[in-house]
Amino acid sequence: MLQRILYISILVLLAEWTTFGAEPFFQDGRTVWKIYLSPQAEQTEVYAAKELQVALKKISGADFEVIAEENPPESNVIIIGDLKNPQVQAQAGALKLSAGKVEEVAVYTLGGRLYLAGNQPRGALYAVYSFLQRELGVRWLWPGADGEFIPVKTSWSLPELKFNHKPGFQYRGFHLCGDYYLGPDSEIFREWMARNFINIYRHAAPLKEKRRGFYSMWSSHNISIPKPLFSQHQEYFAEVKGKRYDANICFSNPEVDKIVFENLAGYVLKHPYLDILSVFPSDTTVYCRCENCSKTDPSTTWFEFYNRLTDSMKNEFPSLKLATIAYFEYRNVPKCKIRNTEFIEYCSYTRCNIHPYGQAGCKHNEDTMNAMLEWKATGFPIGNDAYEFDIFRRNSRFTPFLSLIDDAIKTSKKLGHVTMIPEVLLISPKYVPAEEYIFNVQQRLPIYLYARLLWDPDQKLPDILHDWCQTAFGEAALPMYDYYMSMDRAWSAMPNHTTILGDALNIAPHLFAGKLENEAHDAFSAAEKCLPKIENRVARDRVSANIERERVLFKQWHDLYMMTDSIPWVLLPLLAQAADFAQSSSAPQELLPAASGAKSYPATVSLAWTKEALLVRWICQDPEIKNMKATAAGHDGKVVEDDSVELVLSSGLSGETWYFGVNPKGTRQDHRISSVGTREDLWNPAWQAKTQVGEDKWEAEMTIPFASLGQTPNANEFWQARFIRHNGGRKDFENGGFPERDMSMLVFTSAASAGGSSILWWSGNPVRESRSDIALRQEFSKIGRQVQIVTTAEKLFELHPKCDVFWFRHPGGPNKVPADYWEKYLVPSVKNGAIAIFASYGNIPVDQYFKDPSMKVKTVGIENIPEAARRTNFIAPGDWSGKPNNLLHDLKSGITPANLFIPADTNYWTILASAPRNGNESAPYLLVRPYGKGLIVLCPDKIHRVSNTSLLENLTAYHKSLNQQKETGKKP
Ligand SMILES: [Zn+2]
Ligand SMILES: [Zn+2]
Repeated sequence: MLQRILYISILVLLAEWTTFGAEPFFQDGRTVWKIYLSPQAEQTEVYAAKELQVALKKISGADFEVIAEENPPESNVIIIGDLKNPQVQAQAGALKLSAGKVEEVAVYTLGGRLYLAGNQPRGALYAVYSFLQRELGVRWLWPGADGEFIPVKTSWSLPELKFNHKPGFQYRGFHLCGDYYLGPDSEIFREWMARNFINIYRHAAPLKEKRRGFYSMWSSHNISIPKPLFSQHQEYFAEVKGKRYDANICFSNPEVDKIVFENLAGYVLKHPYLDILSVFPSDTTVYCRCENCSKTDPSTTWFEFYNRLTDSMKNEFPSLKLATIAYFEYRNVPKCKIRNTEFIEYCSYTRCNIHPYGQAGCKHNEDTMNAMLEWKATGFPIGNDAYEFDIFRRNSRFTPFLSLIDDAIKTSKKLGHVTMIPEVLLISPKYVPAEEYIFNVQQRLPIYLYARLLWDPDQKLPDILHDWCQTAFGEAALPMYDYYMSMDRAWSAMPNHTTILGDALNIAPHLFAGKLENEAHDAFSAAEKCLPKIENRVARDRVSANIERERVLFKQWHDLYMMTDSIPWVLLPLLAQAADFAQSSSAPQELLPAASGAKSYPATVSLAWTKEALLVRWICQDPEIKNMKATAAGHDGKVVEDDSVELVLSSGLSGETWYFGVNPKGTRQDHRISSVGTREDLWNPAWQAKTQVGEDKWEAEMTIPFASLGQTPNANEFWQARFIRHNGGRKDFENGGFPERDMSMLVFTSAASAGGSSILWWSGNPVRESRSDIALRQEFSKIGRQVQIVTTAEKLFELHPKCDVFWFRHPGGPNKVPADYWEKYLVPSVKNGAIAIFASYGNIPVDQYFKDPSMKVKTVGIENIPEAARRTNFIAPGDWSGKPNNLLHDLKSGITPANLFIPADTNYWTILASAPRNGNESAPYLLVRPYGKGLIVLCPDKIHRVSNTSLLENLTAYHKSLNQQKETGKKP
């Protein structure tokens, strides 16, 4: 008998060991398990049940019913709830859950039940996600449907589960800058955030969004009072050097205390679901230094104000959590204690985003760390308002700083930070040329890594990365892991230091300084070779698409790197239709023979593109056309042994190179060199060539549909090309025909025209200015204009005839334009219709250049004008500020230049924009003057917020309309 009992016990034990509950969790699309909520469940628990139900349906095909009931059965039951749920409360000890400020997660099998529980409702939601991710392999790697990875299973039994987790940071957020206008894409991002355990939605999450477990936090530069009060009560506002400005408020005026409190209290009353209110002053450099405010430093003045304000707020709203940031003038530890604060986010925007903390020789990080240590020493609850994703203002790119993120989060953890919220710059897809430029696509790996480490800072970077690679790339996981590690190594190995708001263009040469290019190429090739190992076609296509996307993100970097090389650019206009080619194409590229002295005839090639195809037109001069050879027969005959032209093309994306040749009879030949270097003659893409033979020249027009290449360029993308003219073996012609012309970069601009004259750009201080040369060329290429940056007299004289806009940057700088240039070259060109722009903060002796004393202009500095008052106070009426670009808003809101112009005789200049100079006195900073058929422009080196390209486009339109008015006899 005893033996029998023992036997039964073992069986029962075994059964319990392998399967909890009487039935499998699901089998063949069916389940007997049900999801139970308390009838009093909060919306987050209801949402958790829904998330579980939907995911389980996708995994198993089974319908898990959700039931809200007081007394669920003892087995085949999933209990979702927090400590207010009696079922969870009854098991709190076994689940190791205790009430507390920080959410806790428990995933347990007890009896015949599965508990997905938390000490708070959001803990229960995270228990659901933990269960799906840990036990069923679900991943949400990036926002949107294609970032969801749900393994499908036919049957599964629940193992014994005992899992507890407490997150590494109480508050984990992404500060979604720009989500106000993003609409549905922002919702997708928030859904992804919740599924990766992010619990702060900073833009005052509405009640409905709190179902995702978000604390509703409102934080902004919200410490202000209505500006119309300024006319009545200047004393409420900031005083600087005895004058008041409405850019900020006075922090020691009791009336201001009252107004700010009433404003904020009004806001809170309207948003009763708000959990955290974070307050801080306007984003300005103006701080009140009135008699009272200046009794101590600005930081202390602000935090004393904060203390008084939050005393009142606490009194009125006892359960509301209050917070603030340490930023700008108040980034330093104040001399006072700080009361009533859930956390103070230290704004770590001065850190270097290349090197981890502790790396020797990185001063930025040393200073940032010291400041954070000072704050830690105060004992206040400190957070980190992080800015890693703000690193680039221009040319945003996938930032492969994986080790840096790992280090940043582990460092914050060590410093005892209670919150970590990096800014992420979501931008609307309508402002980017393609999906691959959207923030969540470019930074999909770093933001995932960020979220996972905030949840569990003890995780190791290689583990997260291997898991990511396994999920996204399957069989190709290892080479893709190698790729990311190569990028990460190349990133951290760069010697330069970079904080925020830079240009990836300046980083690219450093990033590619080592072996990155080869390593990445090898990794992608190896990854692609793994694809055939994936038998399931759908799975294979998905992995292939994921690799392809990484390749595109890598190419975005590579394009920048190529730009910094000395390869010439050919700007291609984007045509609405191929028939527009006759009106608009690139400037013709001349094909020159390599050896001098040999007989050769001129040839040119021009290009353009439509959304569908690349268009190439060749013109080959040939006075001995009777000797021309065109004998290749049929497609893929030996065309290149004839007189012929050949285009060698590569997108830089797949590692493939494509060859297209055609002879004067229109016989075509094509082949491809694969990414591993094999020649494929059997590759026969669909493309067309039309030819025409004249008396002393022949022409060819190629149309190469992108669909045939499997790759379509995005706007402003770079491809590589070579152009070859073959000589048909004619002995008396340069042997071998025209040689392979060196590499060109085809720039697929989004401009309708790109073949016009160039802009000549004289650099008056090349030592200082050359850093931005490529950015300048890139910027102008986007509007289809080629810039010739010139620093020597020789180049100036050579390139002058090819240009119709002459831009002199700091002409008074150390690099002087030769004195005889003005009269001999510039003056006649301007008389003839050219535009001459003089951009400088220094003196511009334009009267000497044009030998006309009436043009004399003095450059003057501004005096006693604080930054807040440096706003444009006159904008000339008319179309100049509105067409084709609307510059009005930027002109009005931008900070005016520090130097202004005073013309000796204002009658000779038209003032387009002026700014305050001293007291009530103003002076212009943008002046124009028609000269012959041309236009002379004086402006500062940079007009804040207004790009050089917009300015030029508007001035060009303005100039054109002036000339039209002249012709029609109307006064301008
Ligand atoms: Zn004051
Ligand atoms: Zn550094």
